[in-house]
Amino acid sequence: MKVIVIGGVAAGMSAASKLKRSMEDVTVSVYEKSSDVSYGACGMPYYLSDVIKKDDALVARTPEQFKERGIDVFTKHEVTDVDFKNKTVTVKNLTTKEHFNASYDKLLITTGASAIRLPVEGSDLPGIHVLSSLDDARALKDALTQKTIKTVSVIGAGYIGVEVAENLVEMGKNVQLIEMQDQVLPPYDSDMSAHVEKRLKGNGVDLHLNTTLKHYEGTHGVSKIVTDHGSFETDLVIEAIGVRPNTAFLKDSDLTMLKNGAIHVNNKQETSIPDVYSAGDCASVPHLLKDAPAYVPLGTHANKAGRVIAAQLSGEDAHFHGVVGSNVLKAFDLEVAKTGLSEKEAAHENYDYDVVNVKAANQAGYYPGATPIYMKIVFENKTCKLLGAQMVGKQGVSARINIMATAIQRGMTASEFSNLDLAYAPPFSPVWDPLQVATNQIKC
Ligand SMILES: Cc1cc2nc3c(=O)[nH]c(=O)nc-3n(C[C@H](O)[C@H](O)[C@H](O)COP(=O)(O)OP(=O)(O)OC[C@H]3O[C@@H](n4cnc5c(N)ncnc54)[C@H](O)[C@@H]3O)c2cc1C
Repeated sequence: MKVIVIGGVAAGMSAASKLKRSMEDVTVSVYEKSSDVSYGACGMPYYLSDVIKKDDALVARTPEQFKERGIDVFTKHEVTDVDFKNKTVTVKNLTTKEHFNASYDKLLITTGASAIRLPVEGSDLPGIHVLSSLDDARALKDALTQKTIKTVSVIGAGYIGVEVAENLVEMGKNVQLIEMQDQVLPPYDSDMSAHVEKRLKGNGVDLHLNTTLKHYEGTHGVSKIVTDHGSFETDLVIEAIGVRPNTAFLKDSDLTMLKNGAIHVNNKQETSIPDVYSAGDCASVPHLLKDAPAYVPLGTHANKAGRVIAAQLSGEDAHFHGVVGSNVLKAFDLEVAKTGLSEKEAAHENYDYDVVNVKAANQAGYYPGATPIYMKIVFENKTCKLLGAQMVGKQGVSARINIMATAIQRGMTASEFSNLDLAYAPPFSPVWDPLQVATNQIKC
């Protein structure tokens, strides 16, 4: 069997690796347009500030290491077209500029997503960056180490914007964080994201909410950002306003796509075209709490969904069951996490819901170092089924959100959750775990 993989990072390489491990009579060719494969993009904000010192620490395996495992990896090779009828791809060698065709029995589209650029005047000025690929991270780190770069503007306060802002503060930069919405971390409810706003400001981030970028100004490079609420001098800009699936080269095909260009897949990662699979940031995911397939571009899903393709091709009965929308991030000394639906998402999905807000200590109050966790739990009124949880605190959030994610994914009610046998000892938890303190408040 001849398998071609387009795009060689999380989804593509997890599929290629498992495929080669599971099947002997398979040839796997990976075409990757950049010079890197199989790296941890999630670590890039920490690479900027030298928490992670070298770019190669982010690389899990090099093209040579994959070649040793029998996987043909072609970096700097871009797939420019696919002929789905004749099962061939057109590949451009970006070094020689030559084109060639390659044929497949099975095709894996794992092209990921790219940062959306703001189409405003001045956006082509030098000094405006994004952080989407490892090449972006290298270019950005190079620029940030110049002594002349003192004030940096981050446009967009989603999770990448917040992580980048923190790392810029670590580097000693003056940081302006510009967000058009009235809160940071837009998927969260504003009462929860307010904790993060306080922390950002407390650490010197100049946060501007309800502020929309209009255009950039500068002569040799960007030196000013102009917004609907005034202008700000700047030495460098990082745009972090979201991502778009890398599927433009497939737009005239018969592939069914979501509105944003994400390829629609079923829970076997099959697309609408036979023998063509997709996974990761270029594909949809089933959402277990929403009626329609969703676009949730996260590394965890990319790895799992890529593996499902390989399992399918090697004859295993594997499925990607879907997501509930779990995520976690660090914002200075805070752990910030969410799973399931926020209150505004529950309202948007027309659930009959209610919420409880609870503040509880992460460990026994008498044990030194206890610190509060702020929690918001969303539940369905009639059934008391848990729909979502958001948590912010200095300690014990990231582990607890995963307990809640498990419960939500398994459709548990508040009372079932309150009866879970969770472990307890004073240094780790109060006798009633904070999550159970919250679910105890839900009366059905
Ligand atoms: C700064 C940052 C922080 C993040 N933090 C987290 C986190 O904490 N947790 C989390 O779960 N996720 C995080 N993510 C998201 C995570 O990195 C992505 O979900 C994951 O990398 C997606 O993997 P992928 O394989 O689908 O796509 P990608 O990693 O985007 O890889 C796709 C590859 O395909 C290549 N390609 C595209 N088009 C073509 C073509 N036509 N021909 C050949 N090659 C092509 C691209 O060059 C790219 O290398 C973060 C992302 C960023 C940018």
